[in-house]
Amino acid sequence: MGLKAGLRLWLLLVLLLVASAAAYITFKPELPFSVPAALMVVSEPASVTPTMSPVSGVVVESSPLASTNAETLVSTVGPASEDDSPFVVLCYHRFVVHPENFKEKLSEYRFPQAEFRWQMQYLKDHGITPISMTQLKDYWFGGKPLPAKPVLLTFDDGFRSLYDVMFPVLKEFKYPGVLFIYTDFIRDQGDSLTLDDIKAMQNYGMDLESHTKSHLNLGYVEEKKSAKDYARLLPLELSDPVTYIQKEFGVTPTTLAYPYGVYNDDIVNETQRENYQLAFTVNPGPNDRTVPALKLKRDLILNPMSHETFAALFEPRVLHLDHIQPGDGEFIESHTPTISMVIKDDVDYKSIRLFVGTAPCSYRYDPKTRELKHQFHKAMKSGDHYLKDQSLKSGGHFVTVEAKDFNGVKRNCTWYFRIKHSGLNVATKKEDRMKGVDDK
Ligand SMILES: [Zn+2]
Repeated sequence: MGLKAGLRLWLLLVLLLVASAAAYITFKPELPFSVPAALMVVSEPASVTPTMSPVSGVVVESSPLASTNAETLVSTVGPASEDDSPFVVLCYHRFVVHPENFKEKLSEYRFPQAEFRWQMQYLKDHGITPISMTQLKDYWFGGKPLPAKPVLLTFDDGFRSLYDVMFPVLKEFKYPGVLFIYTDFIRDQGDSLTLDDIKAMQNYGMDLESHTKSHLNLGYVEEKKSAKDYARLLPLELSDPVTYIQKEFGVTPTTLAYPYGVYNDDIVNETQRENYQLAFTVNPGPNDRTVPALKLKRDLILNPMSHETFAALFEPRVLHLDHIQPGDGEFIESHTPTISMVIKDDVDYKSIRLFVGTAPCSYRYDPKTRELKHQFHKAMKSGDHYLKDQSLKSGGHFVTVEAKDFNGVKRNCTWYFRIKHSGLNVATKKEDRMKGVDDK
């Protein structure tokens, strides 16, 4: 090859490189990075807490040209045209009148009564309207309009303090609410609501719904049990509350809250077979009717929660995504997955943030296809230094994408995937911890 030809090839290569780099927007979070508390992670009893290391060591592709070109590129994906009036679902567990008596030992699942009253007053002062499950179903299935700024108040498990501490406040405000009870807990009569408590709450107008039979982490159990055992266990876990609540309280639950917010295709399919109409996760964020009926989002209310954080729960709308990877509720093997999705809404790309758990992630965004991508990786040598090991632990992980649309409206979407444990076939202490809700 002659000198001239070689030079030309070089130039061509450089041009190609610049052009390809310019097509992407890259984002590298600066640490420390403030993570909204609303996106805090629920931990399963074992190993779900995302332990991803901060991504400050990640090398991302970047180009100074990228930001100038991005706005002028024409999108090939249409904006979401679906129904877009959001409703929020709040999820509480237990309550306490005197949190100061617990000192540092107070579980985040025990919410102070005074703070709960503040939150209920906040709803009232801001025109946010608590709705019943019937109202939600009439809207969801019949298109009957919801009141302005609708919120569904849900209470999981069935602890006694729901009656003693929470219920008086709910009555004060005349708000509806939903009890998701797991039936073994009520049958065993430990620190749970009595049948009379539940009847009183039912007579007041609260909905009685299902939180399974024994509050197992159904995903972990599926990994651990034989397919045959699991096929026997899963239908019973889902059907028992229906027959129990029918027998004791004369109503038929039609909605389910997944224990620990854990779900996958098998669990969702069985939920459908058992005739549940709606099912609730603990993926935070708003809902509209584009959210799958059996994967509705719920915001966990954990103690402490600042007033600002609570108020912020009612701001965002749904960010509409497509082609998400790993899929919503997918159980995967890889500890270094590629996270990717296509953003359907028209958003300001500069406002896009990606989190796995509470950890902000770098990403590469292609304004043409609207694809957002992050690749986790094991530690490897890059030049003179090692990149940080980003391997994710076995267990559940939340992915959250936030962005602002061109009306300045915040939007977000969170989904859940799970990395399988390997070699799970002997009984471990972990499973015992899964059984109860001692940590609440
Ligand atoms: Zn629960």
